[in-house]
Amino acid sequence: MNARAPKGTSDLLPETARAWEYLNRTAQGLFARYGYEPLYTPAFEHTEVFTRGIGEATDIVNKEMYTFQDRAGRSLTLRPEATASVVRSALEHGLVPRGSSTKLYYAGPMFRYERPQKGRMRQFWQIGLEVLGASEPSVDAEVIMLLWRYFEAVGIPTENMRLLLNSMGDDECRPAYRDKVAGFIRSEATGLCEECNRRLDTNPLRTFDCKNPGCISVMAAAPLLRDELCGPCAQHYSEVRTSLETVGIPYSEEPRLVRGLDYYTRTVFEVQADAGLGSQNAIGGGGRYDRLTEVLGGRPTPGLGWALGFERTLLAMRAAGAKIPAPPLADVYVARVDDTVAAEVFVATSNLRDEGIAAEMDHLRRSLKAQFKQADRLGARLVVVIGPEESALGEVTVRDMQSGEETRVRIEALTDAVRARLG
Ligand SMILES: [Zn+2]
Ligand SMILES: [Zn+2]
Repeated sequence: MNARAPKGTSDLLPETARAWEYLNRTAQGLFARYGYEPLYTPAFEHTEVFTRGIGEATDIVNKEMYTFQDRAGRSLTLRPEATASVVRSALEHGLVPRGSSTKLYYAGPMFRYERPQKGRMRQFWQIGLEVLGASEPSVDAEVIMLLWRYFEAVGIPTENMRLLLNSMGDDECRPAYRDKVAGFIRSEATGLCEECNRRLDTNPLRTFDCKNPGCISVMAAAPLLRDELCGPCAQHYSEVRTSLETVGIPYSEEPRLVRGLDYYTRTVFEVQADAGLGSQNAIGGGGRYDRLTEVLGGRPTPGLGWALGFERTLLAMRAAGAKIPAPPLADVYVARVDDTVAAEVFVATSNLRDEGIAAEMDHLRRSLKAQFKQADRLGARLVVVIGPEESALGEVTVRDMQSGEETRVRIEALTDAVRARLG
């Protein structure tokens, strides 16, 4: 058998898993202040949720989905991202009553069949949020601000980050612009890569995303949607920028930012950070998708959201020297002098845990010296020593591992004594 994790996947070993949990805890604390509720959707959906929701002409749908038939012949797909799933769920369960809005967040693994590289895995982890039902530019600003605040909260310094902002227009102004770009690309086709030529008719705007140097230099002269926005789109975009300025969120306008997905309308944004990733330096991003609910069969409902990649965020945190809290595995270690006190040690350890104190004991019949070593490895601040002599008197010895100070306490007063010493 092949006993290795599949290519493009990785085990979140304890140190990384702790970082994932820290990122989740930070998200939950911060999102709660903005009124978000959790929503967890299945890891797979009917394939058309993604083909319709993300778009037939996208790389994700064309090349990157894990699609399979279940035993009843249904076509199912492991979620390559969560927005389409969240919108599907909100429609199915009526989470957005008419005239109101809903704020939802999620966290979990996503799946894309891509060439694995640093910061890009086939199973990767995302934290994200969606707001459904609100169209005012102030909510765009709030959502963008929350992404920025999140990265600050996990210790990425402002000066390491760049917030890019653009408007993708809407059904009023984008089709004409799209034709204009397609015309431009056609006239410049010889300078563009094969891929960009191929998707000329289906998705010309994606050429802005191409990393091919030839395509980048051609697109530098391409017409920009910024100059073609209709009145309401220009107004919306302007108010988003003003709102960001009023709360001091620094942004750069990036008129070539299109993001890879079909469903975006109006506001799109991305946060880039130094993460030693070269061109893969986007750590989070998203946008508005006012047409997505209709595409998935619901009534028109405006929406927007973002997702951040755990692996890339972690790289950016490491590059910035951000600290991930690593609490000790035990505050107290209960050591056994010999086998005659095994029961007392077990009960004392259990009592401490029942009282909410992180306590550990030996399960390997280590020597007393080895137990002290283990206590040290676990980061325990106190070692409680129980031996036959102490036991006979109904007492235990509490040793402070930093000062080396030892005191005798009554066994029934152990919890209070430990608590007093741990502060
Ligand atoms: Zn290209
Ligand atoms: Zn427009």
